[in-house]
Amino acid sequence: MSKQKYLVHDLAFCFDCNNCFMACKDEHVGNDWQPYTAPQPRHGHRWVRLLRTVRGQAPRIDVGYLALMCQHCEKCAMVDAGFATRREDGIVLIDQAKAKGHREILDMCPYGGIYWNDEIDAPQKCTMCAHIIDSGVEPYIPRCAHSCPTEALKFYDIEPEEMAKIVEEEGLEVFHPEYNTNPHVFYKNLYRYTKNFITGAIVDKASDDCKEGAQVTLTGEGVNETQTTDYFGEFKFDKLDPGTYTISVAGADDVTVTIKESQNIGEIFVD
Ligand code: SF4
Ligand code: SF4
Ligand code: SF4
Repeated sequence: MSKQKYLVHDLAFCFDCNNCFMACKDEHVGNDWQPYTAPQPRHGHRWVRLLRTVRGQAPRIDVGYLALMCQHCEKCAMVDAGFATRREDGIVLIDQAKAKGHREILDMCPYGGIYWNDEIDAPQKCTMCAHIIDSGVEPYIPRCAHSCPTEALKFYDIEPEEMAKIVEEEGLEVFHPEYNTNPHVFYKNLYRYTKNFITGAIVDKASDDCKEGAQVTLTGEGVNETQTTDYFGEFKFDKLDPGTYTISVAGADDVTVTIKESQNIGEIFVD
């Protein structure tokens, strides 16, 4: 198999600056990159959009940002229906002639990555900037990745075996694996968007001071983890699924908490 194109987004380095979104607009609004795609409309389309989530409750919160574009999946209903092609290098491109007038295509993407362009009466989406990649002009990197100031968004042009190695070594994941579409976009630190945490603080009952260095253990749902509280007496168990957990710390009764989402349980006072 030839080299494949991939995008990787690291949520730990994304700060919602929207440079990627603006770069996509700059590259595609008013520019007719035929035969890849017609110009992107100025308004309405978000070929790369930032999904945002706030976990926890003040003052212990975490904000996560996930850049979502067409995931250039190996299995795409639009390709199966003959409205798009999947190139040998993994890039999925809409066949503009065949897709013209077919609004039902919008429902074929579980990621919501396809947009309708009224002017051309056809769907459009991220092309992975194939016109730049095919130009071979250095650096042939999609505009969104090229303009990311923190390198949260990176482009890879490598053999699938090499990518599989990076996925394993760096703990990359796909967004919504249950869709079973085998995306060519991977995410690092995806838990910042998809998982939950339990956080709180240990306080010394007698002095009312936060207790640094306390050993706090969390058990439940297959998790058994011990943390040492920080300078502010705080602990934070992350990457948790919804469920029931027990928090144990010397000098206080166990606290049992059932979470559907991230939770700040407040202070636990210890003797
Ligand atoms: S994200 Fe949607 S449109 Fe893009 S390849 Fe996957 S299923 Fe197809
Ligand atoms: S790869 Fe190109 S078309 Fe796709 S979101 Fe990025 S800038 Fe837009
Ligand atoms: S340019 Fe990079 S840091 Fe900024 S929002 Fe996009 S992915 Fe995040």
